[in-house]
Amino acid sequence: MKPIVIIGSGISAYSVAREFRKINEKTPLHIISMDSADNYSKPMLSNALANSKNATNLVMAESAKMAEQLSAKISANTLVHAIDTEKQTVNLASEVIPYSKLVLALGAKPIRLSINGDAAEQVLAVNNLTDYAKFRKAIKGKKDIVILGPGLIGCEFANDLVQNKFNVTVVGPDKYPLERMLPQAAGRHLQSELENLGIKFKLETTVEAINFSESQLQLQLADEVFLLKADVVLSAIGLKSEVFLASEANIIVNKGIVVDKTLQTSAENVYALGDCAEVNGLVLPYIMPIMNSARALAQTLSGNITEVSYPAMPVVIKTPACPIAVASPANESDGEWQIDENDEGVKACFYQSENLTGFVLTGERVSEKQSLTKDLPAYF
Ligand SMILES: Cc1cc2nc3c(=O)[nH]c(=O)nc-3n(C[C@H](O)[C@H](O)[C@H](O)COP(=O)(O)OP(=O)(O)OC[C@H]3O[C@@H](n4cnc5c(N)ncnc54)[C@H](O)[C@@H]3O)c2cc1C
Repeated sequence: MKPIVIIGSGISAYSVAREFRKINEKTPLHIISMDSADNYSKPMLSNALANSKNATNLVMAESAKMAEQLSAKISANTLVHAIDTEKQTVNLASEVIPYSKLVLALGAKPIRLSINGDAAEQVLAVNNLTDYAKFRKAIKGKKDIVILGPGLIGCEFANDLVQNKFNVTVVGPDKYPLERMLPQAAGRHLQSELENLGIKFKLETTVEAINFSESQLQLQLADEVFLLKADVVLSAIGLKSEVFLASEANIIVNKGIVVDKTLQTSAENVYALGDCAEVNGLVLPYIMPIMNSARALAQTLSGNITEVSYPAMPVVIKTPACPIAVASPANESDGEWQIDENDEGVKACFYQSENLTGFVLTGERVSEKQSLTKDLPAYF
């Protein structure tokens, strides 16, 4: 029997495999991943210091253990070079694997800034365990960290690092942190709480060049004579869906690999979920959409074609200095934020035609998350 092949070993891949095994014990599963295929929780990368974790003890189960738990064959450290949707095969370096159904759980990759200077290549990004091991090695015994990108991941890393006695400066073109996710009052609240911990923000500017300078790196900011010094520069400017394999196989891609509500791509028997997938027009690179997708896809893979539903799924941002819960409206047109700010934090509600369609809560007001979530519409 041809196996169901899953490419990837992140939360998407392992969640769909786990859900599938709950309803089907027999069909062979083959998981192929270009990384170690060890199972870990990616969200823990940005608060690992606070939890006294490193790249080794973030691993919850090694790939051999996962293979046993899932009754699956796992090919770790194995790059898939190409997919042939007509022959229904995936091509490895020296092997061709046939599939009955193929699941793309390819994740997303960090966007790289184009920066000048002889030390531009020193910029690190953290999107997996290997990156994290490299980052921890780089910061060992060092003090000054510059983070590029005041978004969700940048602010989480900044909070984690400053609590562990690093000097942290966050640089970005935005007016305030998480500008793309939060209304200004909430972003400013986060900024002031992070500044209270000692984090410095250099906003409305970008890094133009990074050069070696004695024992440190020297960052040239746009329109500034001032030079910023750093031991380590971490880029957290965002991720983009991994679509290369799919587009090379003539599978339709847009921002992500385009799938319908059954998570089927434009190719027969090929499905996608997680950070690589654009589900019914939405790329939502968070855990809750993955969990919903994995449950629905497991049903479809076992023959019971099932559409995924996306209820409202607020994201909790791991900045202990200023806890934040965000339920972004599906679109911000034809609506407005109503902001209520007090000593406990910010409560921002987004209304469209008098209906609540999104919210942001900061500080102690995060306690209102459950009750507001009940009033939100589902995405689909
Ligand atoms: C630092 C950080 C903190 C986060 N915190 C949160 C949070 O608090 N809450 C939340 O909801 N979300 C959070 N997220 C987002 C969440 O972690 C991701 O949405 C989720 O982990 C994505 O899982 P995935 O399996 O889709 O992708 P990945 O985990 O990226 O897995 C992709 C897999 O595909 C494999 N692969 C890719 N191409 C190939 C190929 N050609 N051949 C073989 N293998 C291949 C890779 O090796 C990898 O195993 C965070 C993300 C980051 C980076």
